[in-house]
Amino acid sequence: MLGPALQLIHTGQTPTRSALTRALDVTRATAGAVTAELEALGLITVDSRPAGGGRGRPSHRLAIDPAGPVVIAGQIHADGLSVTLAGLGGLLDPPVHLPLPAATDPVRMLRAVAEAGAELARGTARRCLGAALALPNPVTEPDGTALAALHFAWPSGTPVADLYDVEVGRADHGPRAFDPLPTSIANDANLAALAEYRHGAGRGARHLLLVTSGHRGVGGALVIDGRLHTGSAGLALEVGHLTVDPQGRPCQCGNRGCLNSETDPDALFAAAGLTPDPDRPLLDQARALCRSAAEDERARAAVEHVIDRLGLGLAGVANILNPDRVVLSGLHLDLLEAAPDRLRAVVAERSLWGRSGRVPIVGAELAHSALAGAAEMGWRPYLADPQSVQG
Ligand SMILES: [Zn+2]
Repeated sequence: MLGPALQLIHTGQTPTRSALTRALDVTRATAGAVTAELEALGLITVDSRPAGGGRGRPSHRLAIDPAGPVVIAGQIHADGLSVTLAGLGGLLDPPVHLPLPAATDPVRMLRAVAEAGAELARGTARRCLGAALALPNPVTEPDGTALAALHFAWPSGTPVADLYDVEVGRADHGPRAFDPLPTSIANDANLAALAEYRHGAGRGARHLLLVTSGHRGVGGALVIDGRLHTGSAGLALEVGHLTVDPQGRPCQCGNRGCLNSETDPDALFAAAGLTPDPDRPLLDQARALCRSAAEDERARAAVEHVIDRLGLGLAGVANILNPDRVVLSGLHLDLLEAAPDRLRAVVAERSLWGRSGRVPIVGAELAHSALAGAAEMGWRPYLADPQSVQG
């Protein structure tokens, strides 16, 4: 009962104890005992003062304890490293962004992100319970190896889960952190989808498809009834290598015209006949290019070109998966906002289900969805068993 209760409060579905009582279908006494125990564990607060200072029956408002424990959420992406501390409730501190280390071999990169996370843990009075990391490449399950880590030319099969665990174990997280600190690692698009499902634009969807272009390439993920569909070995929904133009731009995989190479920030710059500034984050520049489409004819044509390719890819995936919501993130969110009608029209024209208007395409809501998803992964053991936060 503790785990389901904490999950409901964590996802904002039960802001009061009476809502929790209904959602769990238990007596008021049981709900009271459950919330008292979660409060005693330092995870939630129960505010029984009447709302608005007025009189009347107390509503027992439930909230995540702002002084409660945290997990470290990290992300490695093509433009650098990001790391933050995350409490329950999808509540992230503002992330710290670091440039890529000079050496981008797996050990050096994982050490850099582990040390950045440890520094944050040492600097907080809150207890740190775990460290979770999002990677821009597929990660196998359950052994945690990186496949096709093309951004940094990591050898295929690099045991990233084990390496990250070693680097986190070497780092000093201060006296209040669990030791050893549990670690976890997964693909960034999968984690972004999980976060959007729990805290963002995917709430309430049954079959949620997320497609994103963060920095380079394109990722996809599917959440079915609240669970990530990761395939037999963690590699499902690798939508980036769907062909959308057989004569298109070369892809890192060796083929041409993959969604990866046709709809990522590089593709947008190529379509506009422009070269991005190598010293600035590529995604930021691509977003600015999207926004300039309103007044710049060349940007407009480039955006439309990339949208048409993206629409083709989304239609193909939607035909196979029949999602009830498509969430677009990263550059794809900016493309949707630049020309929502065009993208929806391409998908509708090309997809069996889209034509009937049954595939809502919406933008992601979370500012840092991959980090938020890493936090979800870090919190997973404690959401399943809240008493384990005691160590
Ligand atoms: Zn490819």
